[in-house]
Amino acid sequence: MAYPSPYRAGMSSLGFQWITSLVADAGFGAERVYLPDDVEAWRKLRLPPLSMESHTPLGNFPLVAVSVAYELELAGLVELLRLAGIPPLRRDRTPGHPKLLLGGPLTFSNPLPLAPFADAILYGEADDTVVPAVEGFFETGTLDHVALLPGGWIPAMGDVRVPVARADDTHLPARSRIWTKDMELSDMFLLEGERGCHRACTFCVMRRSTNGGMRLVTPERLFELVPEAAPRVGLVGAAISDHPQLVPLLQELVDRGKGVGISSLRADRVALKPEIPRLLRLAGYQTLTVASDAASQRLRREMSKGTTEAHLVACAEAAREHKYRTLKVYMMLGVPGETDEDVDELIAFTRQLAAIHSVAIGLAPFVPKLNTPLVNASFAGIRVVEGRLERLRAGLKGSRAEIRPTSPRWAWVEARLAAGGVAEGEAVLRAVEAGGSFAAWRRALDAVDAVEAG
Ligand code: SF4
Repeated sequence: MAYPSPYRAGMSSLGFQWITSLVADAGFGAERVYLPDDVEAWRKLRLPPLSMESHTPLGNFPLVAVSVAYELELAGLVELLRLAGIPPLRRDRTPGHPKLLLGGPLTFSNPLPLAPFADAILYGEADDTVVPAVEGFFETGTLDHVALLPGGWIPAMGDVRVPVARADDTHLPARSRIWTKDMELSDMFLLEGERGCHRACTFCVMRRSTNGGMRLVTPERLFELVPEAAPRVGLVGAAISDHPQLVPLLQELVDRGKGVGISSLRADRVALKPEIPRLLRLAGYQTLTVASDAASQRLRREMSKGTTEAHLVACAEAAREHKYRTLKVYMMLGVPGETDEDVDELIAFTRQLAAIHSVAIGLAPFVPKLNTPLVNASFAGIRVVEGRLERLRAGLKGSRAEIRPTSPRWAWVEARLAAGGVAEGEAVLRAVEAGGSFAAWRRALDAVDAVEAG
């Protein structure tokens, strides 16, 4: 069971931990392998990635299953395989090499760039499909039977798009087995309070049309599963703050003396249920994090994002009242229809928030994703996003607002892969082989365009 990012990130992925424990509980010797922190150092030393459990080199396993979270982790997948001495492309592997089973959150949007690497892919929720996939492999020596599983695809059999699998609700909730100080969320027992989302934001893969929307787990079931010895509990779910019993759930955890983390908070819930920020602060939560997603009220409305300025002001007031370190607001730049006027509205509004409490704006360029209503929208372009970032920086000078942007260049790469196919997958290998700089990615992806145009 391999994760194409370093250990700290992998240990914070509840999905990866959960799927690994399902395979282990079915009686297989499941061992975990992570991408080394310093890939370059491992390459120089010619060290293969080793399993956590028995220190076995990755290339010695007969079956390697990898969970890929998002597009840029494809580079980690290629690095992991190269370090292990496994040819990344399926066509370059021989029967003596491990078989590669891929899955993970990326399969909810566009798994096609995974195709040149995979022997088989499991789309969507793998709770019910991963064990039959592994079992079948040890019975037959191939992964061909995966084509018969819900969400199963064998790329060598052709470009077939299959619907994502939906796990039976009796499997819920996913939960972690171990908690460790090395996790991004340290000392935390991760527990899935709900799965999916009932909202309809037009840019989001997790919107309600995916796998039937929100599936709730009762507080009684959740309490049953929390280990007495766990110092902190991380509640996970795309829309966990919409859980109708979140307040009593938090209250009970606080009463039991547990620290609590939460994977996402909706600003309207924080505004309408002031007990949520109060209890989270009591449980040790230090940064109140919500999403506003678009620069202006007009854009939020157009994207069906239910957050209003009044909700965000209420969040800033709650952050001040309960002495949170900061209010963090996630935001996208370059969404369809955005203009400089929208950015000016963002500047004025952020100044208003910062006058209430210190605020950090986490900014990511908008990337259109498959399986969303905005699939046909365009990436705004590196220059446009950089220009808007500059405008924002200048407008917020001297305020208590801090901007934490992610790179528009890497968002361009992500957008290319999000809309790409097999050729873009192969371009990942060329980009990594050429050193993995942005220039290397640009050359590799431009070469795909040249071939398509020619
Ligand atoms: S952005 Fe959040 S609230 Fe909107 S559909 Fe996605 S998970 Fe739900």
